[in-house]
Amino acid sequence: MPNKLKLGIIGCPLSHSKSPQMQKAGLKYLNINGEYERYEIQTENFPHEIKNILENLDGFNITIPHKEQIISYLNQKDTLVERIGACNTIRIKDGKILGFNTDYHGFIKSLTYPESQEKLPLEGKKAALLGAGGAAKAVLAALVDLGLDQIDVYVRNIKKSQQSLESCDFMNSNINLKLLSTESSFEEVSILINSTPIGQGRLENSMPIELNQLKSLDSDTVVYDLIYPKTKLLREAEKLKLRTIDGSMMLVHQGAQALSLWTGKDIDKGLIKVMKEAFENG
Ligand code: NAP
Repeated sequence: MPNKLKLGIIGCPLSHSKSPQMQKAGLKYLNINGEYERYEIQTENFPHEIKNILENLDGFNITIPHKEQIISYLNQKDTLVERIGACNTIRIKDGKILGFNTDYHGFIKSLTYPESQEKLPLEGKKAALLGAGGAAKAVLAALVDLGLDQIDVYVRNIKKSQQSLESCDFMNSNINLKLLSTESSFEEVSILINSTPIGQGRLENSMPIELNQLKSLDSDTVVYDLIYPKTKLLREAEKLKLRTIDGSMMLVHQGAQALSLWTGKDIDKGLIKVMKEAFENG
C-alpha cells in the first residue's frame, strides 16, 4: 500500500454524497493514512477528466451518471461488473484498473429488519422492483441469487428497460417487466423496492406509487427504498404500520466493502459501526 492512500468519489452531482465522511471515518478506524475527496465530473467532461483521476488515485467510487461509462476503461472486471453491467468501485493496482460492484453486497447485507437485525425471509417469495436502472440491476441480481420465486420489475418504458436488461446473465423466466402506472397492483408481494429517484431531490414530495396502491399491500409486506433519508413512500408506509428499510445500510455496506478492497482489511462490526455513525452524523 502507498504511504498515503489517495481515494475519492466521482459523479455528478456530489454535494449530497455521504461517502467522504463515511470513508474518512473508516480510514481512521483502520488506522490508515489516506484521503477521500469528491471529484464532480459532468458527462461531457468525462473522457478528459477521468484520465487525470486514473493517473492520480489509488481507488475511487463511481456514482450517477458514470457507473456504466467507466467500464470501457477497466483492465479487469469482477464477476458482478460482468453480470450487472455497472461498476461502482475501482482499485488501481500495479498500474492495472480493476473494477468491482459493491452495490450488490450492500443491498444483500441491508436485508434485515432494522429493529431486530433478523434476516428477511425472501426465498421462494415474490418481489416488486420499481425502476430498472444501474442500482436496480444490482438489486435484481441479488434477488435472483437469494432465490425469490417471482420478481416483477415495474418501469415507465418497457422497451428501453428490455434492451438494458437483455444482456444480463441473471435474467430468467421468474422476472417479468411490467408497466409502472397508477393501475399497477402488487398482490402477494413480500417486498416492494423503490429504485427510481422518485422521493429524492426535486421529487422529494413525490411517491413512485399512489397512496391507494400502498394501502393495498399485504400487512406483512416490507417497503424498501434505496434512497435515504426516509422518503415520503417510507413515511406513508410507516403510517400504515408496514415495515420499512431505507437505503442507508446499503450505502454503509457497499462503502465498507469498497474500503476493504482498497486496503485489504477485513470488514468487522466496528468498521460498520463507525461508518454508520459517520453517515448519521454528517
Ligand atoms: P438510474 O440508473 O438513473 O435509474 C433510475 C431508474 O428509475 C430508471 O429505470 C428510470 O427510468 C427510472 N425513473 C427515473 N425517473 C422516473 C420517473 N419519474 N418515473 C418512473 N421511473 C423513473 O439511477 P440508479 O443509479 O439506478 O439510482 C436509482 C436510485 O437509487 C437513486 O435515487 C440513487 O440515489 C439510489 N441509490 C442508492 C444506493 C444506496 O446505496 N442506498 C445505491 C445506488 C443508488 P428510465 O430508464 O425510463 O429513465
